Amino acid sequence: MQKPNKRLENQTCIVTGSSSGIGKAVAKAMGSEGANIVVNYHSSKEKAEEVADWIEKNSSCGNALVIKCDVSKEDDVKNMFNKTIDYFGTVDVCVANAGMQIDHPLHEMPLDAWQKVIDVNLTGQFLCAKEAIIEFLKRGMRKDVSKSLGKIIHMSSVHEEIPWAGHANYAASKGALLMLMESICQEYAPHKVRCNSLAPGAIKTDINKEVWSSEKELEKLLKLIPYKRMGVPDDIGSVASWLASDESEYINGTTIFVDGGMTCYPGFATNG
Ligand code: NAD
Repeated sequence: MQKPNKRLENQTCIVTGSSSGIGKAVAKAMGSEGANIVVNYHSSKEKAEEVADWIEKNSSCGNALVIKCDVSKEDDVKNMFNKTIDYFGTVDVCVANAGMQIDHPLHEMPLDAWQKVIDVNLTGQFLCAKEAIIEFLKRGMRKDVSKSLGKIIHMSSVHEEIPWAGHANYAASKGALLMLMESICQEYAPHKVRCNSLAPGAIKTDINKEVWSSEKELEKLLKLIPYKRMGVPDDIGSVASWLASDESEYINGTTIFVDGGMTCYPGFATNG
């Protein structure tokens, strides 16, 4: 992990799905840079509490609060924001990270598998962004902590750009996130809201365990990564905390790919 500074001091960040993987790394990175962190979990309270304990011990000034919430449920999301505002006073940064995969060939994909992935990966991000914007507008500028009214970071994927056979629900959810993120920027940038996406490539987490736990599959995967290593969650954590800070103030309405060059289509390196 990068050497922390205090660039998020006095700011409160909600990180959804932060009991594991990328969300956990983002929560730790932002926490170690001085932010108060809401560690949101869906099912593993114990793991969320471990992340919160780590933040409390390692942050120079931030605190952590653990909140259970299913991001696909509007009442849950409203409750998470209300609890956060009651406890920390406001929300400055929302990292809509929670996501899932349920993979099937398209002609065998049950409607349930389509719907569930869209509900969590797309509707969940809409609900979180909506509540964040409501709070930003209600609260007004906090010039002492940030030049922006508030920051939203969507956790997208290289699959907002690269089609993915056998994963159409996932790719469709991430493709749609691009338009959600850009539309939010267009609508709320005049209010000084910043809304961007991060698009990780292949990052070693539970979501793709079956790939990196098999040597053969890993070898196949590395052919898709020009930089020739799989990413780790901290690769995303460090970029996310920078993107939430004023150091990146003029970045708005864009996707930052953090993928070791995956979107440079290495299959074409030798003329395809
Ligand atoms: P992960 O499985 O470790 O994390 C996903 C998190 O989302 C988990 O903590 C899970 O409990 C949570 N979650 C799932 N459904 C939820 C719900 N309804 N409400 C609240 N939380 C819920 O996997 P990860 O790789 O850390 O994934 C995090 C994000 O990064 C996802 O949006 C994923 O699409 C994206 N991403 C991951 C990769 C990768 O290679 N790992 C690549 C591109 C994008």
